[in-house]
Amino acid sequence: MKVINGIPSSPGIAIGKVFLYTNQNLTVPVYPIEQDEVAAEVDRVKEAVEKTRSDLQELKERTEHLGNNDHDNKIIDTHLMILDDPDFLPKVEKQLAEQLINAERALEMTVGQLTEPLKGSSDEYLKERVIDLYDVCNRIIHHLLCLERTPLHDIQHQVVLVSGSLMPSEVLTLDKTYVKGFALDAGGRTSHTAILARSFEIPAVLGLSDITSQVHNGEMIIVDGNAGKVFIQPDQSTIDQYVANLSKWESHERKLLELNELPGLTKDGHRVSLLANLEIPEEVDSALSHGAEGVGLYRSEFLFIKPGEVAAEQEQYEAYAHVLKGMGRDQPVTIRTIDVGGDKIIPELEDFDEENPILGWRAVRFCLSRPDIFRTQLKAMLRASVHGRLRIMFPMISGVEELNDVLDILDSVKQECRDEEIPFDESIKVGTMIEVPSAALIADHIAKRVDFFSIGTNDLIQYTIAVDRGNEKIAYLYQPYHPGVLRVLKMIIDAGHNEGIPVGMCGEMAGDPLATVLLLGLGLDEFSMSPNSLLEVKRIVRSVTLHEAQELVDDIMEMESYRKINTYVRKWMNERIKFFEY
Ligand code: PEP
Ligand code: MG
Repeated sequence: MKVINGIPSSPGIAIGKVFLYTNQNLTVPVYPIEQDEVAAEVDRVKEAVEKTRSDLQELKERTEHLGNNDHDNKIIDTHLMILDDPDFLPKVEKQLAEQLINAERALEMTVGQLTEPLKGSSDEYLKERVIDLYDVCNRIIHHLLCLERTPLHDIQHQVVLVSGSLMPSEVLTLDKTYVKGFALDAGGRTSHTAILARSFEIPAVLGLSDITSQVHNGEMIIVDGNAGKVFIQPDQSTIDQYVANLSKWESHERKLLELNELPGLTKDGHRVSLLANLEIPEEVDSALSHGAEGVGLYRSEFLFIKPGEVAAEQEQYEAYAHVLKGMGRDQPVTIRTIDVGGDKIIPELEDFDEENPILGWRAVRFCLSRPDIFRTQLKAMLRASVHGRLRIMFPMISGVEELNDVLDILDSVKQECRDEEIPFDESIKVGTMIEVPSAALIADHIAKRVDFFSIGTNDLIQYTIAVDRGNEKIAYLYQPYHPGVLRVLKMIIDAGHNEGIPVGMCGEMAGDPLATVLLLGLGLDEFSMSPNSLLEVKRIVRSVTLHEAQELVDDIMEMESYRKINTYVRKWMNERIKFFEY
């Protein structure tokens, strides 16, 4: 048994078999063969081609059965056509016989020759053919090497997914009923992959450095997303222990459900709102079943991030209306305008290949340069607003000019709706995320122009400390309790209150039970988080007084180091609140 420590990124426990996602960095072996081995190598290639063909046919049937889009089907057809090309196999055989090299290398060289003349082309169709040829070659090589190479959306049995990294778009394509846990080499707690894992209630440990080189397909593995530990080939007593831990964890979660109907009220009667963060519209059910009093952040960009399609106005309208109707007429639903860029790349929208994507063409910066996409989204939101209490929120605002520009566009889209007699809610509240340090520093000016703030600590911490939120190598620097961060939080909350607007938080810090009392003491009005964190945070809100929380803040605000603050807050919390333990 091997135990590896990583970053606890999504709570819960997964016990199961490893599915090693080897799509990245496939190393192709190269070795010479004898003349009398050629026939056997040719047979190996033929067999691998047949297996690839049946994989593709099976995949095609399944996509058709699921009613999936034409784009997927066209890709599969193209791949089948490559396999059926009468010249394809003879070319590989020729390469094998002439060069006397192994089948994998011969295949790779053949594809290299076939793609060479297409590579420099600016023709989109030809560029895609290059990708198709490599994709088919990869599939065949996986069969030659006897590696499991099921695409992620093809996983059809219960597994724990082990991979180097995972893009948010890949997480979205997974069938969540089959993937019980994630163990990844890369990533941090506030990366969007981690955020999606929490949303889908998939236990996850990230930042494990090189777990991919330490496991094999089909091996037993335990992912402890609470402690940030992974056990490879656990011994029987560890498995027994974890089966017991899992049942304790599940009963702890069930007990929390008793708080469902109760308000977020401190012992001395101070009321805060506890709201849900949603990544996909279907999560409304989970928000409601965990007692959310509304939606504090709906990350609308995930509607666009599905491969192969760009969400049209009607599709967007339906998604927004679904969330608004689901939450009921009185619960606020905060839809954030599209926040693409950074680690949320949408190839169908634009070429996001940038030197420095985290500081690059993101969020409102993207929207202001693509008013066509932005206006379509705002119109879909306005149309949907008749179904509930919509709040519109803008991400990554860095100054008043940018804010004025997006507000002007919103006004103009409202006017367009009036002209076209499209009904919408005229009293929609409009707010901004405060997640860029410059916005925090001028929060007093920004507060005069909007109805609410929502602090995006995931980015705010990243930009305040200059630490990439997704980079496991510097994850130790990503410190929510850094005194600089706490001062910024206080500055934003005070600025909002001075202008009489509510201040919420929708970054991951809002759902961290250890931070709850501190945030209460700082005066936060709304806490928005993954639905499955809501009840634990509510339990903590209900077990302290506002006065105590303010005392905690007074104790720590003058401390100079995050270590001291961290230790102090942990001790303070552990003395008053009983946390879940195995
Ligand atoms: C944040 O930055 O805190 C936030 C909520 O937005 P995202 O995580 O989507 O960047
Ligand atoms: Mg953000």
